[in-house]
Amino acid sequence: MDNVELTELRAFDREHIWHPYTSITDPLPVYPVASAKGCSLVLETGESLIDGMSSWWAAIHGYNHPVLNRAMERQMKAMSHVMFGGITHRPAIELSRILLEITPSSLQKIFLCDSGSVSVEVAIKMAIQYWFSTGFPQKNKLLTIRSGYHGDTFGAMSVCDPVNGMHGMFQGVLSQQLFADAPKIGFAGPWDESDIRSFEMLVQAHHETIAAVILEPIVQGAGGMRFYSPEYLKRVRALCDEYDMLLILDEIATGFGRTGKLFACEHAGIEPDIMCLGKALTGGYMTLAATLTTEKVGRGISSGYGGQFMHGPTFMGNPLACSIASASIRLLLSFSWKKRIKEIETRLWEGLGLCRTIPGVADVRVLGAIGVVEMEKPVNMAEIQKRFVELGVWIRPFGKLIYLMPPYIITDRELDQLMTSVRRVVSEG
Ligand SMILES: *Cc1c(COP(=O)(O)O)cnc(C)c1O
Repeated sequence: MDNVELTELRAFDREHIWHPYTSITDPLPVYPVASAKGCSLVLETGESLIDGMSSWWAAIHGYNHPVLNRAMERQMKAMSHVMFGGITHRPAIELSRILLEITPSSLQKIFLCDSGSVSVEVAIKMAIQYWFSTGFPQKNKLLTIRSGYHGDTFGAMSVCDPVNGMHGMFQGVLSQQLFADAPKIGFAGPWDESDIRSFEMLVQAHHETIAAVILEPIVQGAGGMRFYSPEYLKRVRALCDEYDMLLILDEIATGFGRTGKLFACEHAGIEPDIMCLGKALTGGYMTLAATLTTEKVGRGISSGYGGQFMHGPTFMGNPLACSIASASIRLLLSFSWKKRIKEIETRLWEGLGLCRTIPGVADVRVLGAIGVVEMEKPVNMAEIQKRFVELGVWIRPFGKLIYLMPPYIITDRELDQLMTSVRRVVSEG
């Protein structure tokens, strides 16, 4: 592409197109990508960048994967989409079958929807409708922990961190939910009951009005890239059972191996009543999400008033997305993903651990294929992004956090280049 055309494209984008969480009048620069393959993004200007983000947890197999391309082409020739009302199809059935096989065994009913945020809305609606239908309409609140992130729609926003959750200005119009302190003990830290105290006190005071607890299991993603103790999650499960609250686990970011387990709840050996999946579900090819629940919740919802579950998006169960999702999951299970993620984890510790002694670094933490360097102060996004691109890597920090969550197919050499770039940029202060 010649420079004149590229300049014109950039100008159009800058003038008219919103990007995630940006100003339309004073946006940060964006980098035009022409194609992507394996672990690389190729810019319109010709440079190739090693991808450290998996396009936000999604592209676990890298880009332009022949197996996923084939699944898409095959399905496209049969049908790309058909309504799900009154109709069913093999792609949805096959995907649901695989999902029920690999998720906790108590999850038996599945709702296929279009994005992570929508799957959270569906989960919240399931919980509230369950209690309504079974004769407890007063149980309609949600309890969560601070530093969480569950999406950008209104129900999801109501359970994002009220301060750091990027939605502070909507507090007045959001449903008021209950927020316990975020867990302080890290993933491997010694357990202390004081960590769950704030949560426990809210449960004791409000359980009669609480429909469900909603959490990201083990890893709090966009709310701060924090890793917490599996013991915390075990206590939450026990309290939900004791006080009759459903447990919604939002595995949208953590699902499909990212934390070293297929699903992060496996670290705690517990099962949710409702689980949300998204992001890596289609290997980053298309938007698709799923909300899974138990026989008990499914029956409860259907037993009472109306009997129907009140949700049904236009693109529900999109065949193209379902086919790619099945192919992506089969691809994941066909290689020794656990071993590879362990290797990535070890390498991330070695490479990012070296940042610890660099002035300005507050913390380094790693879990599975997630590596985080937390700075003492927020980084200058535009500047640091530009530096990373100059160094040939795609890393997108936010706030004080510079983090890596590469595709699982990344080579050691590529991973080392990502980490060398992080060390370099962090040292430059
Ligand atoms: C990304 C994310 C969501 C929202 O998913 P979208 O597909 O962006 O709507 C919800 N919960 C968690 C934990 C996420 O990481």
